[in-house]
Amino acid sequence: MKLAKRMAMIKPSPTLAVDAKAKAMKAQGIDVIGFGVGEPDFDTPENIKDAAIKALKAGFTKYTPASGTDELKTAVCDKFRRDNGIEYNSADILISCGAKHSLYNIFQALLDDGDEVIIPAPYWVSYPDMAYLAGAVPVPISTTEQSGFKITPGQLKKAITPKTKMLILNSPSNPTGASYSRDDLAGLAQVLLGTDIIVVSDEIYEKLVYDGFTSTSIVTVEPRLKAQTIIVNGVSKTYSMTGWRIGYAAGPADAIKAMANIQSQSTSNPTSFAQKGAVEAIQGPQDFIREMVSEFDSRRTYMVKRLNGISEFSCLTPNGAFYAFPNVSGVYGKSAGDIAVKNSNDFATYLLEKAGVAVVAGGAFGADNNIRLSYATSMGNIEKGLDRIEKAVAALK
Ligand SMILES: *Cc1c(COP(=O)(O)O)cnc(C)c1O
Repeated sequence: MKLAKRMAMIKPSPTLAVDAKAKAMKAQGIDVIGFGVGEPDFDTPENIKDAAIKALKAGFTKYTPASGTDELKTAVCDKFRRDNGIEYNSADILISCGAKHSLYNIFQALLDDGDEVIIPAPYWVSYPDMAYLAGAVPVPISTTEQSGFKITPGQLKKAITPKTKMLILNSPSNPTGASYSRDDLAGLAQVLLGTDIIVVSDEIYEKLVYDGFTSTSIVTVEPRLKAQTIIVNGVSKTYSMTGWRIGYAAGPADAIKAMANIQSQSTSNPTSFAQKGAVEAIQGPQDFIREMVSEFDSRRTYMVKRLNGISEFSCLTPNGAFYAFPNVSGVYGKSAGDIAVKNSNDFATYLLEKAGVAVVAGGAFGADNNIRLSYATSMGNIEKGLDRIEKAVAALK
């Protein structure tokens, strides 16, 4: 069939593609260690499952308002008050089918053809493609290990043009795990105050932080930015609920209403009983998070140490999310037999096909010197996978 022209601008999510390829190899009986996944490997806590089951049994199985239930919006408002010190009303909240869906609706509701969207790189793979789908132009700002993968106020200032409509912030970051401190955010806020640039703050990894770091919202740091900021968050990563598809956005009511209209003409409401589960996740006991983070922390420490033990690699210690993002450019230019490794894609393919380890090439995130390894997998898998990577690197000459 003849596809719409806009399809030429986007590609399937490369992270989901790596996962699919690794799963297909496993199905053929090939032993693959998967560092590709972007979801916690923990089960959803029982109290959350029970809340959804109870809702199902009680017949909570019909349409809810397209923008989500009042009950869940109220719970989300409580969360922002409790965790972030930010006051929102229900009219400022949109419940979506995952944070990704909230983001998609933000782009559709707010961007016109030719609008520029500033996206710090390395970036989450979906931001540029969502911008393209809205007819907008992604404007990446490059960062490297030297700045801890964070943009500076000076870089932000330089990237702003009369066409700049939006800035995407993602802290803690997927793929780098880098997180902006209060001071970092205050510096960026100084550049943004007094402009009409919309700030989209993707805080999905807010709770997955290490070494005593606390993730702060830019609105908490600079409340005067609230009127131009939309915060995106959700239950997927915090409560290991990726398959439930519940995320949310908080921001000025007029923007939220526009996004709700898009939802009412496309998906309608997020799944009714999944919303009940999300209420329990946000309002119920929070101990699960501490246990999961403590486990991630041990794996993170081990993985980063092993990666830095490979002389061709160097890896910053991330203080958030569940990814390591080593610089592997030390292997570029080397080869094994007839396989030459020239970039992150070659290296990821080499690791998957010759070592049975699935990683995501950094090129997909706008950082071709790096690869992304998720430590949302067992310690046993991490040990085995790193042994394999070490051997595969040693075989490159
Ligand atoms: C996982 C992820 C999301 C999407 O989460 P869902 O709520 O499952 O849609 C959004 N942003 C980033 C940076 C992510 O890594």
